Amino acid sequence: MGPQDQPDYVNAVAEIASSLAPMALLSRLQKIEHLRGRNRDGGRWTARTLDLDILLIGNEIIQMPDLLVPHPGIKEREFVLYPLHEIAPDLQFPCGNSLKSVLKKVSRNGLFVIEKEIKWGKELK
Ligand code: AMP
Repeated sequence: MGPQDQPDYVNAVAEIASSLAPMALLSRLQKIEHLRGRNRDGGRWTARTLDLDILLIGNEIIQMPDLLVPHPGIKEREFVLYPLHEIAPDLQFPCGNSLKSVLKKVSRNGLFVIEKEIKWGKELK
């Protein structure tokens, strides 16, 4: 998904607890992106200083003009699926598919864990 000629980037997945409604959460994340220097003028697929997305909200399915949950593309993106698996190996998507079954179809595509890269000096395969 998206062009292949972007510079390397760091990706991470975090689980958070929030009392905000989904749209309020999205707007808070966009405010953080803005505070960290995100400029939205460059077009959808240009390199970004910070990109915060909502991947999942429990088993909720949200289809609003500005918010789709689960995040579209979540099941095709190795840089989302592998970090997600680190924190939630037994996760099931709202559609019923398990993360483990989806991961079987998606290769690492060059993805590696930075901490281990530094420690051992080699990529994980
Ligand atoms: P991005 O370029 O990744 O920041 O996304 C651009 C737009 O995607 C935002 O303005 C959001 O309104 C929309 N969007 C739809 N679903 C999501 C989601 N789950 N998480 C983050 N942004 C979303």
